[in-house]
Amino acid sequence: MLKLPIYLDNNATTKMDPRVLEAMNPYFLEHYGNAASRSHSFGWEAEEAVEYAREQVAQLIGAEPKEIIFTSGATESDNLALKGVFEAYRAKGNHIITLTTEHKAVLDSCIHLEKLGAEITYLGVNHQGLIDLEELHKVIKPTTILIAIMYANNEIGVIQPIREIGAISKKKGILFFSDATQAVGKIPVDVLNDDIDLMAFSGHKIYGPKGVGALYVRRKNPRVKLTAQIDGGGHERGMRSGTLNVPGIVGFGKACELCRIELMKDAERIRGLRDKLEAELLNMEEVFLNGSSENRLPNTSNLSFNYTESEGLILGINKNIAVSSGSACTSATVEPSYVLKAIGVNDELAKAAIRFGLSRFSTEAEIDYTIDQVKATVSKLRETSLRWQDRNEVNFSKKVKQAVKE
Ligand SMILES: *Cc1c(COP(=O)(O)O)cnc(C)c1O
Repeated sequence: MLKLPIYLDNNATTKMDPRVLEAMNPYFLEHYGNAASRSHSFGWEAEEAVEYAREQVAQLIGAEPKEIIFTSGATESDNLALKGVFEAYRAKGNHIITLTTEHKAVLDSCIHLEKLGAEITYLGVNHQGLIDLEELHKVIKPTTILIAIMYANNEIGVIQPIREIGAISKKKGILFFSDATQAVGKIPVDVLNDDIDLMAFSGHKIYGPKGVGALYVRRKNPRVKLTAQIDGGGHERGMRSGTLNVPGIVGFGKACELCRIELMKDAERIRGLRDKLEAELLNMEEVFLNGSSENRLPNTSNLSFNYTESEGLILGINKNIAVSSGSACTSATVEPSYVLKAIGVNDELAKAAIRFGLSRFSTEAEIDYTIDQVKATVSKLRETSLRWQDRNEVNFSKKVKQAVKE
């Protein structure tokens, strides 16, 4: 039996994998020590568990365990990367290059740094959502200390040419930071192959717990310096103080291990379901895909349903299916998504956009139900839409004229 409501908002957060919960469980009531306690077995057990998780996390992205800094999530990792690099490299320069379609955690950190004297270049993207590498070349200056470009976009799933950006950064001797929160666990990510110097990602986007994430900080070629943004006991090599969230970190580690083992199999199955959903919905009149269809995460489909009143659309679908219009962080306001605006989608279509985000737990029955439900909702809304009626009349008279001519 199909269980309602159906969850298709996996770019906002994922259900935890039961195997992750199982791994975490002993660290609440049994092994509850502080990983920084050096004088007794409670502390040693906790430390051992944290170091094991650090290996699991590092392995997923091709890093060394020592290069993983545990944080409270990708928002904190984004803040630490941008603010920490700006402070540490201030003497070298103050220029940072980023994208207009970055997550708010990156954009708002940049705005904060502007107040402290940073010069930020916000690169635009094309209709597909992709950056122009020529343009990136052109905006690099002698004072550029950091290129901050996300791996994959949370709203439209578009994957940037990360390897090329990494190569440019390396050649120019500029640090490259990537917010890979949506990419890690969904597609193969390797910090060595991609020449990434700093990388943010998060537990709850990959079937792990909320409130735990990581920042990868390269230790050689080059050795990245970073000024801590949270001071205290000097945990995490002095880059992030605070008692470690041991159960969370254990769960994050397990989630990374499961992704490493099951990523390829999951991605193929999820892509198949996503493609079916997308093909069926694009089959309707006046439905458009937002962003590149090729350079894209396997789980994401962002579609605009023209001639539907946007609020009616999300309300109608959300009765039984959890989806998001634009990104979760901005959906409280009716402002059209800044990401869709940046790729040239007009306000009308941006407001009529729905993001479908599938997961490891999505089933074919759920997708079939979603196809029927969305089709029915769109048809119903169009029945009462004057704009839709006008359009059909215009099309009808065009056809009549055409027929008379022939
Ligand atoms: C979800 C997300 C974040 C924020 O992650 P949290 O762990 O919830 O703080 C940052 N960047 C991107 C691209 C995201 O998708």
